Amino acid sequence: MNIESAIFDRSAPDLDSCPDESLPEFAFIGRSNVGKSSLLNLLAGKENLARVSPVPGFTKLINIFTMNRCWRLVDLPGYGFAQVAKVHRSRFNQAVSHYLKQRTNLCLVFALIDSGLPPQEIDLEFVEWLTRNAVPFVLVFTKTDKVAAAAVSANIAAFTEVISPWFEKLPAVLTCSATTGQGKSELLGVIDEAMTAIKAEASRARSDAEKLPGAAPAPTRKERVRAARPWRPNPARPW
Ligand code: GDP
Repeated sequence: MNIESAIFDRSAPDLDSCPDESLPEFAFIGRSNVGKSSLLNLLAGKENLARVSPVPGFTKLINIFTMNRCWRLVDLPGYGFAQVAKVHRSRFNQAVSHYLKQRTNLCLVFALIDSGLPPQEIDLEFVEWLTRNAVPFVLVFTKTDKVAAAAVSANIAAFTEVISPWFEKLPAVLTCSATTGQGKSELLGVIDEAMTAIKAEASRARSDAEKLPGAAPAPTRKERVRAARPWRPNPARPW
């Protein structure tokens, strides 16, 4: 997938301030300083789509961009600021929690983890929270250029070993470097594949609806969430 247009939509302080749910959304989140802004700029092919912050934890709002006029990239505030007391570090913005749990057009979360570090409690807690709340996500290990490949592999293995008891099948694992561009096409490929699945599902739903006589009852929130998230990453796929 090529990004032909990346247009800033808005900065939302809470879920109610987000745009309507008409477009599929792909959200990026990670500990402050994980390299999220750099990665978003790489994906969008723009120098300053997301501000590369000199101060960890700069982004406090939900920043939303419309990509190629057909999906949204959602830049979620980072978690785990060093200056916050340890007991509060794992808590992230309530708006983010609402967004992740209730946003029906959220297709997939890219959970960013620094590949240069051994498993961090704060990241494990967040991944556990995503899992407990049935939020669909893939893991993205960032900054692969920063340490030796063997260290990256060891850190990824250590992380997945800790979380593997929580899953029947592990979520997909991707790697990237904003410095070298490694992983860019794989990440965009995941979005592309999800968009293809969503379009196919929408056209199937349309043709099913045309066959049904009479009006269907309004779907419940749970049904809408399920319908809006028809696509799940295939954990068995070596991205
Ligand atoms: P954010 O706080 O998660 O948005 O992280 P930033 O994108 O602002 O990056 C934090 C720091 O890590 C900055 O100094 C970046 O230049 C650096 N950084 C980000 N991505 C990479 C990467 O892929 N490789 C290396 N070596 N440094 C990176």
